[in-house]
Amino acid sequence: MTGDEIRDSFLDFFRERGHTVVPSAPLVPEDDPSLLFVNAGMVQFKQVFLGKDTRPYRRAVDSQKCLRISGKHNDLEQVGRDTYHHTFFEMLGNWSFGDYYKREAIAWAWELLTRVWKLPKDRLWATVHTTDDEAEQLWREITDVGRDRILRFDAENFWEMGDTGPCGPCSEIHIDRGAAACDRRDDPAHVCRVNAGCARYIEIWNLVFIQYNRDESGKLSDLPAKHVDTGMGFERLAAVMQNVASNYDVDVLRGIIASVERLAKKTYGRAPDDDVSMRVICDHARAVTFLIADGVLPSNEGRGYVLRRLLRRAARHGKLLGLAKPFLHEVVGAVVHAMGRPYPEIVAQHARIADAVREEEERFAATLDRGLALLATEVKRAKAERASALPGEVAFRLYDTFGFPLDLTEDILVGEGLTVEIAGFERAMEEQRARGRGAQRFTDAAVAPDARGLESRFVGDRVAQYESEIVGLFSSEQREPFGEGAEVDVVTAETPFYAESGGQVGDRGWIESLDGSMAFEVLDTQKIAQGVIAHKGTVRRGRLRRGERVRLRIDAARREASRLNHSATHLVHAALRHHLGSHVKQAGSLVTPDRLRFDFNHGKPVGDETMREIEDEVNGRIRANLEVSTEEMPYRQALEKGALAFFGEKYGATVTVVRMGDYSTELCGGTHVARTGDIGVFKVRGEAGVAAGVRRLEAVTGEGALELIRRHEALLHEIAALVRAPEDEAAAKLEKLLAQQRELEKRIAELQGKLAGGAAPDLLADARRVDGATIVATRVEGLDDKGLRELADRLRDRIKSGVVVLGSAQGERALLLAAVTKDLTGRYHAGNIIKQLAPLVGGGGGGRPDFAQAGGKDPARLDAALAAAYELLGAGSR
Ligand code: ATP
Ligand code: MG
Repeated sequence: MTGDEIRDSFLDFFRERGHTVVPSAPLVPEDDPSLLFVNAGMVQFKQVFLGKDTRPYRRAVDSQKCLRISGKHNDLEQVGRDTYHHTFFEMLGNWSFGDYYKREAIAWAWELLTRVWKLPKDRLWATVHTTDDEAEQLWREITDVGRDRILRFDAENFWEMGDTGPCGPCSEIHIDRGAAACDRRDDPAHVCRVNAGCARYIEIWNLVFIQYNRDESGKLSDLPAKHVDTGMGFERLAAVMQNVASNYDVDVLRGIIASVERLAKKTYGRAPDDDVSMRVICDHARAVTFLIADGVLPSNEGRGYVLRRLLRRAARHGKLLGLAKPFLHEVVGAVVHAMGRPYPEIVAQHARIADAVREEEERFAATLDRGLALLATEVKRAKAERASALPGEVAFRLYDTFGFPLDLTEDILVGEGLTVEIAGFERAMEEQRARGRGAQRFTDAAVAPDARGLESRFVGDRVAQYESEIVGLFSSEQREPFGEGAEVDVVTAETPFYAESGGQVGDRGWIESLDGSMAFEVLDTQKIAQGVIAHKGTVRRGRLRRGERVRLRIDAARREASRLNHSATHLVHAALRHHLGSHVKQAGSLVTPDRLRFDFNHGKPVGDETMREIEDEVNGRIRANLEVSTEEMPYRQALEKGALAFFGEKYGATVTVVRMGDYSTELCGGTHVARTGDIGVFKVRGEAGVAAGVRRLEAVTGEGALELIRRHEALLHEIAALVRAPEDEAAAKLEKLLAQQRELEKRIAELQGKLAGGAAPDLLADARRVDGATIVATRVEGLDDKGLRELADRLRDRIKSGVVVLGSAQGERALLLAAVTKDLTGRYHAGNIIKQLAPLVGGGGGGRPDFAQAGGKDPARLDAALAAAYELLGAGSR
């Protein structure tokens, strides 16, 4: 089976068992500040487990995108070094929300693995929590896993998503891939067995029985209901199913490795070090593709910094493979190709993702080589001094000047047998923070330059190109002359570049000498001191000189797109106040070329209907094509005229007032459209709480809105095709299918109840007594093997002390079962009973003292065999 088929087959199996197939949640948890990234399938159901939210279904199944690179679950250090831990992976899971529990979870897992997928039973192991007798008993009773392969563990069999949240004991399924698979053979202390951490025994599926919540103080309390939460690593399963030694040989990942092979002109599987690098690149390419698709962009903090760390680690492994130019954005193409079918979001955003990756690669390329050179010198020195750790200040310098995240330095040092002196690193960081206070906005190179005596003037919103003179050059580490590759902050006397403020991101573009011999790429624009605007970027050609006249050119398309979003924030601010009340105040905003984000003070969610009215009102003002005017005036006068002033902004004596018709008046130094009609269209993407009393609205405008509509259209199209109905009728059709499914489930449950429970009393009508034991031998039709076994169990429970023999015709086949209650296994032996009866129906068989079964070719002789059973058990005549 291909990877895609395996994923589908999992979903189908549980769909057929009454589970609703749900889509993967985004990697960024929607409403959970306790977690940086989704690390398991259960995250999107956390509130349901806690009893705080409900779903229209009680059983669900999905394939969830997971990232394990932070918090309780962090596998980064293993990635690439082993072949079965990824940062990004897919987790297949099935859930019960207060519906079925341990019995079904175990039975279905076993059925799917061994009957449907036919994995070799003699290689599977089950583990249960030390206290979980019930689970162990179930494994013995309903599966045929080897009796000596049910093991008990403590910590390994208690699952938690993080420090707090739903949790409980779990039962895991491990597979033994044979002695040759062990990857720790040269470790003398290592013994291959379950949970010993080598590639021979690997965990494939974890069945978690959620029954507790852990609170902030670490205390466990019972949840209102018991739930099932299972997770199976898709890549590990696929490796087993496709009979390959490593996750990276699974078709889905192999294609990505192949693209790295092509780029590096190397073959995977030849040299162990190269293989590690190829695996890291393959893994990180998947992670960054999905992170960017889910809205994360490289930055210096939080989620953005995790992304940056991944990108930079991948870049360094590219160097190890001899890749001289940015390459990762090309590997992204292979990821999209391999995984786009189940995850269309990466197809839709392919270009955007590749651009963001490339940009970050280029940004880092300028300093990577120099950082590596510095590190090589320092490593040599540390070794000469027989030190075991690199001084913290050196790691800090790499971090601060060369953009080496600490874990990248550590990762490189592992290969040299060195660590980092962390205390020194932190001291340096702290000192710098103290120095940098008051000039915090200074982003990448965090040393504040001495900008005294400098001044630069923003020449205004309508100017895309301007000539001026370089008056200041700053670099935190490098010295003049600033030639190709240098990362510098350039200050000019005047500039058309907008510096980040009021939530609007800084401009990008180019600064060139008039004769074209020098070109400097501006990647960001920031105010570094009052009245001083710095163009931050990299020299691409020639050399920067103070005093030189230059041409400054902004990326106008990017500015235009930001302009639309910025003007739209003013409209939405006014509309929110209009609909929700004048207590609404802006609490923060972000305006980028792609989207806008607006935080405001408001105590409760904005209902769907109100949100639609707000959206309508904003679009109404856009169509009214109001004139947008800006006017400079004294601060007092502006406030008197009713202009809205923003939180936390410091205003000078004169301010700029932006007016949109009579509808909105705000103090703002940002860039705006000429008339509101330029915004085109405004579409809200969502609204949610971000802190107590603060709501966040996200929206898109112009082309961004068009793109969103197209994406939704494609999705609807796909749904309609899946349910085979015209788009207008897709929802109705889906509703019908779900109703049908519920109906079928109900009927199946009824029938099963009738067959098993209902028939039991009748069957016992035939029972006979021998020396205080109850003997029953009877025919049952209409149940499969498993149903018969369950029925035999139930009858045995009911008679308490005695023997049950069941016979059933299954088409051409006869089936006989014998079950003896525990107290009588000394007197009767089920295996022997079956051994004697089976020949009567043309078969053979045997079994344990308490339970045995056999098949035969002659169903016509079942009644005779059952009569013989009574004889055999001394109950021949009543
Ligand atoms: P391991 O002990 O192998 O790290 P785990 O106990 O951390 O696994 P769970 O938290 O139970 O795993 O996750 C459920 C399933 O997800 C595991 O059974 C495994 O198949 C898969 N899985 C877990 N971590 C990873 C990873 N880093 N990469 C790929 N698959 C993983
Ligand atoms: Mg783990």
